[in-house]
Amino acid sequence: MSLDKKQYLEPLRELSRLDNRLQQVRRELAAIPEQMEASGGDYLALQSALQGKETRLGEAEKEKKKLEGEVKELGEEVQTREKRLYAIKTQKEYQATLKEIAKIKQENKQREDRILALMEEAENISKETTQLKSEIADKEGGYRKIEGELKTKEEALTKEKTELEGRRPQILEALPPAMLKQYDQAKQRFGNPIAGVKKGICLGCNMNIPPQVYNEMLKHADLRHCPNCHRLIYVELETTIQENRI
Ligand SMILES: [Zn+2]
Repeated sequence: MSLDKKQYLEPLRELSRLDNRLQQVRRELAAIPEQMEASGGDYLALQSALQGKETRLGEAEKEKKKLEGEVKELGEEVQTREKRLYAIKTQKEYQATLKEIAKIKQENKQREDRILALMEEAENISKETTQLKSEIADKEGGYRKIEGELKTKEEALTKEKTELEGRRPQILEALPPAMLKQYDQAKQRFGNPIAGVKKGICLGCNMNIPPQVYNEMLKHADLRHCPNCHRLIYVELETTIQENRI
Protein backbone atom coordinates (compact mmCIF):
# COMPACT_ATOMS: atom_id res chain seq x y z
CA MET A 1 0.00 0.00 0.00
CA SER A 2 1.31 3.39 -0.90
CA LEU A 3 -0.72 6.35 0.22
CA ASP A 4 0.02 10.00 0.32
CA LYS A 5 1.32 10.92 3.74
CA LYS A 6 0.40 14.59 3.66
CA GLN A 7 -3.22 13.90 2.90
CA TYR A 8 -3.86 11.05 5.31
CA LEU A 9 -1.51 11.39 8.23
CA GLU A 10 -3.41 14.07 10.07
CA PRO A 11 -6.86 12.41 9.72
CA LEU A 12 -5.30 9.12 10.86
CA ARG A 13 -3.74 10.72 13.90
CA GLU A 14 -6.98 12.44 14.68
CA LEU A 15 -8.84 9.15 14.35
CA SER A 16 -6.38 7.47 16.66
CA ARG A 17 -6.65 10.23 19.27
CA LEU A 18 -10.42 10.15 19.01
CA ASP A 19 -10.58 6.36 19.35
CA ASN A 20 -8.29 6.40 22.37
CA ARG A 21 -10.35 9.05 24.06
CA LEU A 22 -13.58 7.28 23.15
CA GLN A 23 -12.28 4.07 24.65
CA GLN A 24 -11.31 5.88 27.84
CA VAL A 25 -14.66 7.67 28.04
CA ARG A 26 -16.55 4.42 27.60
CA ARG A 27 -14.42 2.73 30.26
CA GLU A 28 -14.96 5.56 32.73
CA LEU A 29 -18.68 5.58 32.07
CA ALA A 30 -18.93 1.85 32.61
CA ALA A 31 -17.17 2.18 35.97
CA ILE A 32 -19.54 4.79 37.39
CA PRO A 33 -22.35 2.52 38.66
CA GLU A 34 -19.80 0.49 40.60
CA GLN A 35 -18.19 3.65 42.01
CA MET A 36 -21.62 4.89 42.99
CA GLU A 37 -22.33 1.66 44.84
CA ALA A 38 -18.90 1.59 46.48
CA SER A 39 -19.11 5.18 47.68
CA GLY A 40 -22.64 4.61 48.93
CA GLY A 41 -21.62 1.38 50.73
CA ASP A 42 -22.84 1.91 54.30
CA TYR A 43 -25.50 4.38 53.34
CA LEU A 44 -27.13 2.11 50.78
CA ALA A 45 -26.89 -0.88 53.10
CA LEU A 46 -28.67 1.10 55.83
CA GLN A 47 -31.33 2.24 53.37
CA SER A 48 -31.92 -1.32 52.32
CA ALA A 49 -32.10 -2.46 55.97
CA LEU A 50 -34.63 0.28 56.69
CA GLN A 51 -36.73 -0.76 53.75
CA GLY A 52 -36.72 -4.35 55.01
CA LYS A 53 -37.85 -3.26 58.48
CA GLU A 54 -40.64 -1.09 57.10
CA THR A 55 -41.89 -3.92 54.93
CA ARG A 56 -41.93 -6.25 57.94
CA LEU A 57 -43.75 -3.64 60.02
CA GLY A 58 -46.43 -3.35 57.35
CA GLU A 59 -46.88 -7.13 57.28
CA ALA A 60 -47.15 -7.29 61.07
CA GLU A 61 -49.77 -4.51 61.11
CA LYS A 62 -51.78 -6.30 58.47
CA GLU A 63 -51.69 -9.62 60.31
CA LYS A 64 -52.66 -7.91 63.56
CA LYS A 65 -55.65 -6.21 61.96
CA LYS A 66 -56.86 -9.48 60.49
CA LEU A 67 -56.54 -11.25 63.86
CA GLU A 68 -58.34 -8.45 65.67
CA GLY A 69 -61.25 -8.84 63.28
CA GLU A 70 -61.36 -12.56 63.93
CA VAL A 71 -61.16 -12.07 67.70
CA LYS A 72 -64.14 -9.74 67.55
CA GLU A 73 -66.16 -12.22 65.49
CA LEU A 74 -65.32 -15.15 67.72
CA GLY A 75 -66.14 -13.06 70.80
CA GLU A 76 -69.61 -12.45 69.40
CA GLU A 77 -69.90 -16.13 68.66
CA VAL A 78 -69.16 -16.91 72.32
CA GLN A 79 -71.80 -14.43 73.48
CA THR A 80 -74.42 -15.93 71.20
CA ARG A 81 -73.74 -19.41 72.50
CA GLU A 82 -73.68 -18.30 76.12
CA LYS A 83 -77.11 -16.75 75.69
CA ARG A 84 -78.32 -19.96 74.12
CA LEU A 85 -77.28 -21.91 77.24
CA TYR A 86 -80.33 -20.62 79.17
CA ALA A 87 -82.71 -22.10 76.68
CA ILE A 88 -81.11 -25.55 76.59
CA LYS A 89 -83.23 -28.35 77.98
CA THR A 90 -81.00 -31.40 78.08
CA GLN A 91 -77.83 -31.92 80.03
CA LYS A 92 -76.13 -33.45 76.99
CA GLU A 93 -76.80 -30.46 74.77
CA TYR A 94 -75.76 -28.14 77.58
CA GLN A 95 -72.41 -29.90 77.95
CA ALA A 96 -71.86 -29.90 74.20
CA THR A 97 -72.46 -26.14 73.99
CA LEU A 98 -70.12 -25.50 76.91
CA LYS A 99 -67.49 -27.51 75.12
CA GLU A 100 -67.96 -25.46 71.95
CA ILE A 101 -67.68 -22.23 73.89
CA ALA A 102 -64.46 -23.42 75.55
CA LYS A 103 -63.06 -24.36 72.17
CA ILE A 104 -63.84 -20.98 70.64
CA LYS A 105 -62.39 -19.21 73.68
CA GLN A 106 -59.25 -21.29 73.34
CA GLU A 107 -58.93 -20.33 69.67
CA ASN A 108 -59.44 -16.71 70.57
CA LYS A 109 -56.78 -16.93 73.26
CA GLN A 110 -54.27 -18.12 70.64
CA ARG A 111 -55.15 -15.14 68.45
CA GLU A 112 -54.80 -12.71 71.31
CA ASP A 113 -51.40 -14.15 72.19
CA ARG A 114 -50.33 -13.74 68.59
CA ILE A 115 -51.58 -10.14 68.58
CA LEU A 116 -49.50 -9.39 71.68
CA ALA A 117 -46.41 -10.90 70.05
CA LEU A 118 -47.01 -8.82 66.93
CA MET A 119 -47.38 -5.65 68.99
CA GLU A 120 -44.11 -6.38 70.72
CA GLU A 121 -42.41 -7.03 67.40
CA ALA A 122 -43.81 -3.80 65.95
CA GLU A 123 -42.50 -1.88 68.93
CA ASN A 124 -39.03 -3.35 68.50
CA ILE A 125 -39.05 -2.64 64.77
CA SER A 126 -40.08 0.95 65.45
CA LYS A 127 -37.12 1.39 67.80
CA GLU A 128 -34.78 -0.12 65.20
CA THR A 129 -36.11 2.04 62.38
CA THR A 130 -35.67 5.18 64.49
CA GLN A 131 -32.06 4.18 65.06
CA LEU A 132 -31.54 3.37 61.37
CA LYS A 133 -33.07 6.66 60.27
CA SER A 134 -30.70 8.58 62.49
CA GLU A 135 -27.67 6.65 61.14
CA ILE A 136 -28.89 7.24 57.58
CA ALA A 137 -29.25 10.97 58.22
CA ASP A 138 -25.63 11.05 59.45
CA LYS A 139 -24.30 9.41 56.32
CA GLU A 140 -26.64 10.93 53.79
CA GLY A 141 -24.81 14.24 53.32
CA GLY A 142 -21.52 12.57 52.42
CA TYR A 143 -23.15 10.12 50.09
CA ARG A 144 -25.26 12.73 48.29
CA LYS A 145 -22.16 14.82 47.69
CA ILE A 146 -20.25 11.96 46.06
CA GLU A 147 -23.36 10.86 44.20
CA GLY A 148 -23.74 14.39 42.82
CA GLU A 149 -20.13 14.51 41.72
CA LEU A 150 -20.39 11.15 39.99
CA LYS A 151 -23.61 12.17 38.25
CA THR A 152 -21.98 15.38 36.99
CA LYS A 153 -19.03 13.34 35.74
CA GLU A 154 -21.40 10.88 34.07
CA GLU A 155 -23.26 13.67 32.28
CA ALA A 156 -20.04 15.26 31.02
CA LEU A 157 -18.71 11.92 29.81
CA THR A 158 -21.97 11.03 28.08
CA LYS A 159 -21.94 14.37 26.31
CA GLU A 160 -18.34 13.88 25.22
CA LYS A 161 -19.08 10.33 24.05
CA THR A 162 -21.95 11.56 21.86
CA GLU A 163 -19.72 14.26 20.38
CA LEU A 164 -16.87 11.83 19.66
CA GLU A 165 -19.20 9.25 18.15
CA GLY A 166 -20.73 11.98 16.01
CA ARG A 167 -17.37 13.18 14.75
CA ARG A 168 -15.90 9.78 13.95
CA PRO A 169 -17.78 9.17 10.65
CA GLN A 170 -16.54 12.53 9.35
CA ILE A 171 -12.94 11.49 9.86
CA LEU A 172 -13.59 8.07 8.33
CA GLU A 173 -14.86 9.73 5.18
CA ALA A 174 -11.47 11.31 4.64
CA LEU A 175 -9.66 7.97 4.65
CA PRO A 176 -9.54 5.20 2.00
CA PRO A 177 -11.12 1.85 3.04
CA ALA A 178 -7.85 -0.07 2.58
CA MET A 179 -6.12 2.26 5.02
CA LEU A 180 -8.98 2.01 7.49
CA LYS A 181 -8.75 -1.76 7.39
CA GLN A 182 -5.07 -1.58 8.22
CA TYR A 183 -5.74 0.99 10.90
CA ASP A 184 -8.39 -1.24 12.52
CA GLN A 185 -6.08 -4.24 12.48
CA ALA A 186 -3.24 -2.32 14.08
CA LYS A 187 -5.64 -0.62 16.49
CA GLN A 188 -6.72 -3.96 17.89
CA ARG A 189 -3.17 -4.51 19.05
CA PHE A 190 -1.87 -1.06 19.89
CA GLY A 191 -3.12 2.06 21.60
CA ASN A 192 -1.40 4.09 18.90
CA PRO A 193 -1.49 2.29 15.56
CA ILE A 194 0.48 5.01 13.78
CA ALA A 195 4.23 5.29 14.21
CA GLY A 196 6.98 7.45 12.83
CA VAL A 197 10.12 6.03 11.28
CA LYS A 198 13.44 7.61 12.14
CA LYS A 199 16.75 6.61 10.61
CA GLY A 200 15.17 3.51 9.17
CA ILE A 201 13.72 2.38 12.53
CA CYS A 202 10.00 2.00 13.27
CA LEU A 203 9.40 3.96 16.47
CA GLY A 204 6.46 1.70 17.27
CA CYS A 205 8.45 -1.52 17.61
CA ASN A 206 12.04 -0.24 17.38
CA MET A 207 12.81 -2.61 14.53
CA ASN A 208 14.55 -1.79 11.29
CA ILE A 209 12.45 -1.19 8.20
CA PRO A 210 13.84 -3.03 5.16
CA PRO A 211 16.18 -0.49 3.49
CA GLN A 212 14.39 -0.69 0.18
CA VAL A 213 11.06 0.16 1.75
CA TYR A 214 12.64 2.95 3.75
CA ASN A 215 14.25 4.45 0.69
CA GLU A 216 10.95 4.38 -1.15
CA MET A 217 9.25 6.04 1.79
CA LEU A 218 11.86 8.80 1.80
CA LYS A 219 11.43 9.30 -1.88
CA HIS A 220 7.64 9.30 -2.02
CA ALA A 221 6.81 10.62 1.45
CA ASP A 222 4.01 8.09 1.69
CA LEU A 223 2.40 5.90 4.34
CA ARG A 224 3.27 2.22 4.58
CA HIS A 225 2.87 -0.42 7.20
CA CYS A 226 5.65 -1.79 9.35
CA PRO A 227 6.48 -5.36 8.28
CA ASN A 228 7.21 -6.21 11.89
CA CYS A 229 4.45 -4.65 14.03
CA HIS A 230 2.04 -3.74 11.21
CA ARG A 231 1.52 -0.22 12.46
CA LEU A 232 0.93 2.44 9.85
CA ILE A 233 4.25 4.17 9.46
CA TYR A 234 5.53 7.41 8.00
CA VAL A 235 8.94 8.97 7.82
CA GLU A 236 9.60 11.51 10.52
CA LEU A 237 11.85 14.14 9.08
CA GLU A 238 14.98 15.03 10.99
CA THR A 239 14.26 18.02 13.18
CA THR A 240 15.09 21.12 11.28
CA ILE A 241 16.36 24.39 12.67
CA GLN A 242 13.04 25.98 11.86
CA GLU A 243 11.10 23.42 13.88
CA ASN A 244 13.42 23.90 16.80
CA ARG A 245 12.53 27.57 16.92
CA ILE A 246 8.87 26.69 17.30
ZN1 LIG B 1 6.97 -1.46 13.69
